[in-house]
Amino acid sequence: MSAKPKVLITQKVPETVQNYLNEHCDCTYWDKEGTMPRAELLEKIADAEGVFLSGGAVDTELLDRAPKLRVVSSSSVGYNHFDLEAMKAKGVLGTHTPYVLDGTVADLVLALMLSAGRRIAELDAFVKAGKWQKGAVKGTELFGMDIHHATVGIIGMGRIGEAIAKRAVHGFDMNLLYYSRSRKQDVEDKYGARYCSLNELLVESDYVVIITPLTPETEHMIGKEQFSLMKPTAFFINASRGATVDEQALIEALNNGTIRGAGLDVFDVEPTPIDNPLLKMPNVVTLPHIGSATDKTRYDMAMLAAKNLVGALTGGEAYVVQELQGVGKV
Ligand code: NAP
Repeated sequence: MSAKPKVLITQKVPETVQNYLNEHCDCTYWDKEGTMPRAELLEKIADAEGVFLSGGAVDTELLDRAPKLRVVSSSSVGYNHFDLEAMKAKGVLGTHTPYVLDGTVADLVLALMLSAGRRIAELDAFVKAGKWQKGAVKGTELFGMDIHHATVGIIGMGRIGEAIAKRAVHGFDMNLLYYSRSRKQDVEDKYGARYCSLNELLVESDYVVIITPLTPETEHMIGKEQFSLMKPTAFFINASRGATVDEQALIEALNNGTIRGAGLDVFDVEPTPIDNPLLKMPNVVTLPHIGSATDKTRYDMAMLAAKNLVGALTGGEAYVVQELQGVGKV
């Protein structure tokens, strides 16, 4: 029997996932809080044929220290932390965890829309600060904007985009516009979605949602010019990656009333610095990148990432990212 492949697991994983990994691999675990520090990863990777992680750059520096590395399994669907060219050059496969998190991320996007549109976080703080007193609230000052029957524009009609579309249309009777690299006839048939240009989507939507991967093409896809096309009553929702948006342009658009508000799960720099002006804006809902963070979904992602790692190392099944399919030393 050949020896089990050596793998490095750089974050805590549930016991059943450990049991599965132990069955198939010779594992070194990081069992403290957070993730294995970069310096330690660079040292320990020397012997590893596989690594399990969920972020942190997989770049030339790391790959140069890892002569035996064959597979990087990320417990995430996004893989903008992979240097795809460097991995290709070294023959290292990269895997990710599509499908298992779609509903959870879509739920969060709807929560951001509701929270921004109906001012949930802002008004929760209002009540808790004792400002809800007889005669203190006048006229329309606490009013928000409807979700139901409003128009949502989804930029990136992929797996998660479609799960958002389903909720928006079936749950909230929204009108649906979308923009993607390619047209999706099935989404149009199922949800009455209308495919349009990015500019049309920005002009017509009450809620603009971006949920594309971060790639060289989508970096700063939304900036000053794009915000200037949006309605002054519209809300901008980002659950993709911080860098798909020019954050300075977003801050300006919110400051000068170009748009009404925003719901953000992701930021340019994470954790976002405490002096980020977005954190001072009552019309902006801010979350700490928790799109997929429920107990069940994070478990499912960890188990799928473990199966991907074993599958890719042993020539079995694995969700290899599109750009690295066919690459590898397996
Ligand atoms: P997916 O199924 O690959 O869908 C991505 C969509 O974006 C596709 O419809 C694709 O168009 C479109 N797209 C890609 N490049 C584009 C471009 N240059 N212009 C216009 N559209 C473009 O991916 P997914 O599973 O839905 O995940 C999407 C992203 O969500 C992930 O990559 C990740 O960054 C983010 N995410 C965030 C969280 C969070 O915690 N906030 C959690 C999970 C995922 P085509 O179909 O035409 O190629």
